[in-house]
Parts: sequence; C-alpha cells; structure tokens
Amino acid sequence: MPEGARRVAIGPDDLVATGLVEPGRTEEIRRVAAEYAVALTQDVADLVDRADPADPIASQFVPTAAELITTPEERPDPIGDERWSPVPGIVHRYLDRVLLKPTLLCPVYCRFCFRREVVGKKGAMLDHAALERAFDYIRQRPQIWEVIVTGGDPFLLAPRRIADIVRTLDQVPHLGVIRFHTRVPVVDPRLVSCALVQALAAEKAVYVVIHANHPRELAPKAREAVFKLTRAGIPLLSQTVLLRGVNDDAAVLEALFRRLVAMRVKPYYLHHADLARGTAHFRTGIATGQRLVRSLRGRVSGLCQPTYVLDIPGGYGKVPIAPCAVTPDGSSGGWIVEDGAGVQHAYPGDPGGKEG
Ligand SMILES: *Cc1c(COP(=O)(O)O)cnc(C)c1O
Ligand code: SF4
Repeated sequence: MPEGARRVAIGPDDLVATGLVEPGRTEEIRRVAAEYAVALTQDVADLVDRADPADPIASQFVPTAAELITTPEERPDPIGDERWSPVPGIVHRYLDRVLLKPTLLCPVYCRFCFRREVVGKKGAMLDHAALERAFDYIRQRPQIWEVIVTGGDPFLLAPRRIADIVRTLDQVPHLGVIRFHTRVPVVDPRLVSCALVQALAAEKAVYVVIHANHPRELAPKAREAVFKLTRAGIPLLSQTVLLRGVNDDAAVLEALFRRLVAMRVKPYYLHHADLARGTAHFRTGIATGQRLVRSLRGRVSGLCQPTYVLDIPGGYGKVPIAPCAVTPDGSSGGWIVEDGAGVQHAYPGDPGGKEG
C-alpha cells in the first residue's frame, strides 16, 4: 500500500479531533468505551453529514450515553450463542450448518451490535490450535453442510489467513457451501483487495453476505469493492438490521434494497434488532417492522424483498415474522387471503377436505 494510504482506525479518543463529537462529550464517550468497543473507519467518517444531528450513519457508529441504559429485557448474549458453542469459535445451533468465528475484531463497532459484549475485546482472535480444533469439529460431523465464517469480521484477517480457511474447508468432503458474513466491503472497502478476492476462490460454492443498513452506506468505493467480488463470480447477499432513526422508514428501506439489487446483491434478511444491552434506543416494535415490510411488498420488485426475521432470545433460532397474508377460514375449511390493498379473498381448502 502506498505511503499515506494506510488504514486509519478512528478510536474513542479521536472522535472529538475528527469533529464527529462535540468536545463537551468526551466524558460520555469515555464511559461508553469502558463498556463496549468503539471504532470507525475514515471511509465511514467521510459519509457522515455533520450538519445533521440525527445522521443515520453517525448514529450507527458514534457512541452515546443512551448505551449506558440497560432495560430489563436486554441480555448480554441476546441470541444464545454461548449455549450452542461446543468448542471455542464454533456455534452449532442448526443441524446442517455452523458458525465459525476466527476473529471477534471488526473495522467498525456498530452501536447496536448483537455481539457487543464480546467483539473487540481481549482474546478476540482464535489462535492456531483453537482454529484447528474448530476445523476438527467440522471434519468429524458429516451432517454439517455449510460453514458460515463470521465474527467479528472475517474480512479483517490477512488474505493469506482467509485463503487458509477457505482451502481447509474446501477439502472437507461433506461441505457444500462456505459463507462469509462481513461489513468490510461497506465500511472499509479498500480491504477488498485482489488478494482477498483470490483467497475466496474454491471448488465449493463461496457466498458473501454483506451488512448494510442505509442507502448512503453504498457509496462509490463500497460499490467498487462489491463489484470486485461479483465480477469474480461470487454470489452476494445482504443483511440489514431494522434500526429506529436509521432505516425505520419505507422510502429508506426501498432505496437501500433497490440499490443493493442494482449492485447484484440480493437482500437476504431484514433482522429485527436483538435485545443486546444498551440498545433500546435503536429498537422498533415488531408491528412497525411488519408495517414497513407490508408496504414494501406492494411497491417494490420481489428481488428487493428480504425475509424479515427475529432471532428468538435465548438461542431458539431465527424465524420469519413478516405479516402472513393467509388465515384459515374455519367456516368453509378453506382460507382467507388478503391482497396488497388489504382486500380479503376466499381461497378453497384441500380438494380432499383433509387439510388442517
Ligand atoms: C443466523 C445463524 C445461522 C445462519 O442462519 P441462516 O438462516 O442459514 O442464514 C447459523 N447458525 C447460527 C447459530 C445463527 O445464528
Ligand atoms: S460489523 Fe457486525 S459483528 Fe461487527 S460490530 Fe457491527 S454488527 Fe457487530
């Protein structure tokens, strides 16, 4: 990398100097940073509209005192990763797939992160021996068909280490798919180097799922990084967290999903925000999410419709929570179906009358 193009991580002590935080808030930032990791990248800082006190980019990454308030329903491990972790670095909740977390470091720390208790802290990297044990766990279980490499952010690893992971998994006969979950193409796009793209080359299908929450995150550099991946033939999907004040607005979600699809990225999940500690100010109600999803259904291409999901607190897994258009009609044994305009229609039951 040429001199002067080094990656600049903006930490808690730099927020005032960069103008992202007023000087009077130093103490507030210090208190949040004592609890949760704080960092963003220069690319993200450049996207912030400093004239807007409620800027949807800044509010995702710049800490606030609201994070120091924990509500009774919030939990340190909201989706129950710990409960399903048989060996360090592995989460095995579903029969056919596991999470592999080689690092718990991220280029940015999202203020609503569902793993905020563990990301960016000590012991954030799996050492060589632990990674080998995680691979052994996968090799020994033929029911595992897919490995989801996540973290933290796996694209923060050196391309050589990513290549080692891909090569190792590519040699496990029972695996069909290797999937990476990352925010790097959006928040630190220059890390998507030729070496990184080459590291993802494999016999098996390698999917990349990017995390993006607001259309303004998809700036030219991010689009270029995504294009490097799609040009290499890698299928891309996206996940979005529904966040109050950031994207709890039909027009914002519409712009986000349209832009993703136009970049060859298929919106995969819209996540209802998890019950992570100190994140109540980001959460909407489920009814709000359902209203947004319903309004998108009628006006945007089916390609732009992610599945709205909730990860049930306690480790019970993800379930779709979009409003359902069909209800059983008790009197006829058939169904009542609601169309996009809210008008109800009868639909017949099973011809044999055995349904339900
Ligand atoms: C979210 C998650 C997955 C992936 O679920 P998909 O529905 O296949 O995307 C796998 N394992 C765990 C533990 C998860 O939390
Ligand atoms: S990039 Fe993902 S893992 Fe990292 S802080 Fe954001 S939500 Fe958490």
